[in-house]
Amino acid sequence: TSVFKDIELGPPIEVFLRSKDFQDDSHESKVNLTIGAYRTAEGKPWVLPVVRKVESTLAQDESQNHEYLPVLGLESFSQAATTMILGEDSVAIKEGRAIGVQTLSGTGALRVAAEFLARNLHFNTFYYSKPTWENHRLIFLNGGFKNNFEYRYWNPDSRGIDLNGMIEDLRNAPVNAVIILHTCAHNPTGCDPTHAQWDKIADVIEEKHLFPIFDTAYQGFASGDLDYDAYAVRLFASRNIEFICTQSFAKNFGLYNERVGNLVLITNNTSKIPEIKSQLTLIIRGMYSNPPKHGAKIVSVVLNDNNLYTQWKDHIHTMSGRIKEMRTGLYDRLMKLETPGTWQHIINQIGMFSYTGLSENQVQYLIKNYHIYLLRSGRINMCGLNEQNLDYVAKAINDAVTK
Ligand code: PLP
Repeated sequence: TSVFKDIELGPPIEVFLRSKDFQDDSHESKVNLTIGAYRTAEGKPWVLPVVRKVESTLAQDESQNHEYLPVLGLESFSQAATTMILGEDSVAIKEGRAIGVQTLSGTGALRVAAEFLARNLHFNTFYYSKPTWENHRLIFLNGGFKNNFEYRYWNPDSRGIDLNGMIEDLRNAPVNAVIILHTCAHNPTGCDPTHAQWDKIADVIEEKHLFPIFDTAYQGFASGDLDYDAYAVRLFASRNIEFICTQSFAKNFGLYNERVGNLVLITNNTSKIPEIKSQLTLIIRGMYSNPPKHGAKIVSVVLNDNNLYTQWKDHIHTMSGRIKEMRTGLYDRLMKLETPGTWQHIINQIGMFSYTGLSENQVQYLIKNYHIYLLRSGRINMCGLNEQNLDYVAKAINDAVTK
């Protein structure tokens, strides 16, 4: 007998399953459009040159060691990261109303935020967009939340945002419900609210006393401009709305598995900052004790050096620019093939992903007949495309749609 005898198999994680299927496939034309990671024009992962440079400097630096960081992480990192999202001239920072805490990438920041809100503030209800990144629900339930709801977001007919539906759902949410928002490059739809739409979202959140969490996994990746991509967060800060913002440095620094993240909390009650920090410390201490240094140190060095910062911004430009080129590349080919349906959304969407609108059957068809791997929802990672496979993918989509 065994204490583990009754354990049950949980559902597979689609994105990892599909990536594994891709790896196991021996077809020579196979294409991986699943997992959210940047690929170069040659289809390779990219270690940013500025990251390589800082890594080699740090490796030679005898003053570096592998001692523990404090529970709340590397302060030079979390301060620079907080300034990056809130802006150099942030009033919240000047007034001492912003707290930054290093976390285990974006996921870790969300998990700590969820536990803090559930445990210390007794929040129990959260809302996420329909659809959203598939991990939001699990993170918040594991963090202690009890009730989860979706707010309308994607309108399949217009292939854009259902703003009226979203506002109506937020209006009907109970007081203190936590609303998870994507700061930019919404995953999976690639559709972000316009500035005017963000105003309306802020109005209802303020009026109904909801608590926003900005999940920021793609700052700089969406438009290529760090400030533009931070618009929503800065708008809420300028309206003195209290919120939490989670930052991931996985995509924009290419530091995926180094787990570099930051949790930013904006409060209107500075006298309670010691208590807030103390409770965050206890949560992290009991969860993983303290975060890893390597990746955070790299980001800290880059963000605190004007010259390196400029080089990094250039890399962000390269990445977001290549994604935009792939959008036009795919769109132009589908137009040329006269593929039935509207495809304008491919160039209108922003960030790493495109929500193609392909049906589940069409997705299966692409996997089975063309060895092109994408998610059931029709989401594709634009970075998986390159000049070598664009014709093949466009032709395959055309075939899947017209068959
Ligand atoms: N939030 C969104 C919307 C994401 O797409 C991702 C990564 O895919 C994350 C958060 C967190 O990623 P990580 O934990 O690797 O920083």
